[in-house]
Amino acid sequence: MDAGARNLRGDIVAAARRLDALGLNRGTSGNIGHRAGPSFFVTPSGVPVDELSPDAIVEMDFSGAIRGAGNPSSEWRIHRDILAARPEINAVVHTHSRYATSLACLHRDIPPFHYMIAVAGGDTIRCAPYALFGSQALSDLALVALEDRKACLLGNHGQIALGRDLAEALAVAVEVESLCAQYWTALQLGQPHLLSGAQMLEVLEKFKGYGRRQDV
Ligand code: 13P
Ligand code: ZN
Repeated sequence: MDAGARNLRGDIVAAARRLDALGLNRGTSGNIGHRAGPSFFVTPSGVPVDELSPDAIVEMDFSGAIRGAGNPSSEWRIHRDILAARPEINAVVHTHSRYATSLACLHRDIPPFHYMIAVAGGDTIRCAPYALFGSQALSDLALVALEDRKACLLGNHGQIALGRDLAEALAVAVEVESLCAQYWTALQLGQPHLLSGAQMLEVLEKFKGYGRRQDV
């Protein structure tokens, strides 16, 4: 195995541990995928994060064949299909984080109640309808919900977050969980005021230069 692949396996294990440390995943819930040239890496199925090692990460090709050893995540189709359809995306994170999953159980799209909804790439975070975990149907529904987005909820299941790298995918997953917690909390007191389409377009435009020095 070359050094790049070894590093990537280690980075995936570190990302899985980070999700656990942040409380976004527990036990064997959730999984991570990452593009690796003509193939991709995915976490193994049913392995608790403290038993995860770089060697346990499974390599697959885009036809769904396993390269080498290992039993891939039951959601390998989600990782394969997103990486195949979205060339700008290299990392896929799936979690059963508390607030995202709670709202996913209500089958609610998250509306623009807060400007940070734009981190997911649009003015809503969509919720895909329910389908059985590990099924092609779930992957197909997720891909539709993720159109022009970097995140979606999965009905009665959890969330998916995407990034050009693992750091971005983790950051999106953390932000989605935070937004869902805020939305949930606001809903306890009434119906949150929603930002308009024009206000969200303004945010999306401003995000293009966010964190970079602006000409004044
Ligand atoms: P795996 O352990 O097979 O990745 O399953 C966890 C999960 O979240 C299924 O949706
Ligand atoms: Zn899951």
